[in-house]
Amino acid sequence: MRKRPILLKFFLIFTVTIVVSSVLSGVLMSGLVQRYMLNTKQDDIVKSMGAIQELWVECLNAERNAKNSKGEWISETLQNQYLDSHRNLLNTLEQYDAFLGDEAYIFVTDTTGAVAYAYPRLQDDTPELDSAGHKVLPDDIMDKFIVQGEKVYLPNSAQFNRPLSQAKPLRDENDFYGLYKGRNVRFLTVSKRVQYIHPETKTETLGGVIIISVPIPDVVAARNTVVGYFVLSTIGAVILELLILSYFTKKLTDPLRELKAAAARVADGSYDHKIPVESDDEIGDLVESFNQMQDSLANLDRMRNDFIANVSHELRTPMTSIGGFIDAILEGVIPPEKQEKYLNIVRNEITRMNTLVNDLLDVARLQSGHTKLDFKREDVNQIAVDCVSKLEPIIREKGLNTALDFQTPEAYAWVDVPSVTRVFINLIQNAVKFTNSGGTITVHTCMVRGGVQVTVEDTGQGISEEDQKMIFERFFKVDQSRGLDKKGTGLGLSLVKNIMKAHGGSVRVESKLGVGSKFIFTIPAQELKQNRNEEEKS
Ligand code: ADP
Repeated sequence: MRKRPILLKFFLIFTVTIVVSSVLSGVLMSGLVQRYMLNTKQDDIVKSMGAIQELWVECLNAERNAKNSKGEWISETLQNQYLDSHRNLLNTLEQYDAFLGDEAYIFVTDTTGAVAYAYPRLQDDTPELDSAGHKVLPDDIMDKFIVQGEKVYLPNSAQFNRPLSQAKPLRDENDFYGLYKGRNVRFLTVSKRVQYIHPETKTETLGGVIIISVPIPDVVAARNTVVGYFVLSTIGAVILELLILSYFTKKLTDPLRELKAAAARVADGSYDHKIPVESDDEIGDLVESFNQMQDSLANLDRMRNDFIANVSHELRTPMTSIGGFIDAILEGVIPPEKQEKYLNIVRNEITRMNTLVNDLLDVARLQSGHTKLDFKREDVNQIAVDCVSKLEPIIREKGLNTALDFQTPEAYAWVDVPSVTRVFINLIQNAVKFTNSGGTITVHTCMVRGGVQVTVEDTGQGISEEDQKMIFERFFKVDQSRGLDKKGTGLGLSLVKNIMKAHGGSVRVESKLGVGSKFIFTIPAQELKQNRNEEEKS
């Protein structure tokens, strides 16, 4: 499979995030801008409506004054006054129309929806009002009006009934109930009822409705500008992101590349190349862990080599002497009466090699967990007594004293009897080996929290502090050129440690050169959880 570099992955993730968030905020912003602009436009419109309303109320009053109850003009002066106010209103509408933009429409209707005034003007406007030179409504809009006698009505009753029913201005953002249908643009239409105090009845009276429409495209243009800025800033952000990402991914991937190269070197068996830790983040931690792992691997490798060297050494020495003796016997160098002595030495060497190989296998099995231990609740005091009596002959032979010091008559623990016996035998044998005649070996037991603590104490030569750290290692012997009576493989304490580990216990040493040593181990009194689980499984 083709590899995708981290930079590419990050770039894709970040770019998608930036684009998505830009689009979202762009849509939101443009929506808000549109709303804001429409609101501002509406405010402008509503303000101009106030002036129109005043002039219109003037017209209404002038007409009322100028006509009698039959609807005839009372006098020419009054009629002219009325026409003046009428003209005045139309002029004002024209001014507002210019102010509101190219394609604005203003209608003033009475309460029945009949258009009283319009700008652009109704096509059949009164001739006395100097229609010439003024804008007139386009045919498509004019055709939609309903003409009845002299009056021209709005085509849809909702256009005047709805604003009449509410004090607040109404807003429409489409074609105002079909009035602007067929025009290419959408319109913002604000409609508001006209309310005034009737001069005679002195009550609030509805005069009609003022409707003003302006096209929305300029709002759309402003929104498009906002979107344009967003697109530009998104492109800028993506470029900036690419620069920042390439810088940071380089910082991230450089040590990873180094780690990869170092791992390849480790795989080839070379452990001496440490990677410098340059950052205090997770990558730094990883590099540090890698260096530690390299150290442990180097250590393991060294231990393995030492182990092979130790085993070879331990086997070669006895095999050389066995070979030498046998050659000497075969060649007749050793006279027949002395042969038995040498054959005994050969037998002892073979026994020792056998012990060594068995011990090695035992340690290996214990370490890998392949030894099946049979745990039971047993009295550790009893095991101690049995072991001491078993070793009684060699203890007596060396002229040593023994003592048993049990804090309680019985000390029950959860043990595999053969391996704990082996621990006792190893420790007591060591005590015998390293204690001069006249010395004393004491086995103490006591109950401690969680188990039984056993101490095998001797008054022997003791172990230096430096050696104490090493004695539990495989093949470690304090005195490498040991005397004949101190034969050993250096595996005994390693076995002890592994047996204790398998019991969930522990072992340690306390010793002073020339005074003696204490080997202290603790065995848990309760069944080990791991053993219980294994039993349940089986
Ligand atoms: P070995 O089988 O060679 O005795 P062990 O693992 O039992 O191997 O012991 C390792 C080394 O620890 C011994 O060679 C000896 O030097 C030291 N040692 C163990 N027990 C004692 C002791 N009781 N007194 C002094 N030294 C001891």
